[in-house]
Amino acid sequence: MKCPFCSSFDTQVIDSRVSEEGDTIRRRRRCVNCDRRFTTYERAELVMPAVVKRNGTRVEFDAAKLRGSLNLSLRKRPVSTEDVDAAVARIEESLLASGLREVSSGHVGELVIAELKKLDQVAYVRFASVYKSFEDIGEFVKAIDEIQVPRKP
Ligand SMILES: [Zn+2]
Repeated sequence: MKCPFCSSFDTQVIDSRVSEEGDTIRRRRRCVNCDRRFTTYERAELVMPAVVKRNGTRVEFDAAKLRGSLNLSLRKRPVSTEDVDAAVARIEESLLASGLREVSSGHVGELVIAELKKLDQVAYVRFASVYKSFEDIGEFVKAIDEIQVPRKP
């Protein structure tokens, strides 16, 4: 780390502490050349991975588009906006936490399916049927099987 005052590369860390939230490290540095002090902050760089579509093209992750497809599947279903927001946030967090530079659209689809499965079974089947259509009929049949409510005798 170059000294901001004299541009010397000879600097020492004299103190290091983690922020209360634990997401930043603050370092006090001293320049060996001019003896001036300065502070640096270090934080993890969190970047949304690019989404690689089936045809191989890359697009930016689009939370609004994601919300749109969730809402479409949840049309006329008794699920609150807060719950949809929370689901979108969980998907975003999961993608951020992956640390990957790019993910397949299939992976994003699986995350959506997992969230919808928790939110609403009808929306889950709607999304899964459109998303997985013609790609893997077996998966879709399995999805339908999984939600069949056992009948009372
Ligand atoms: Zn200096």
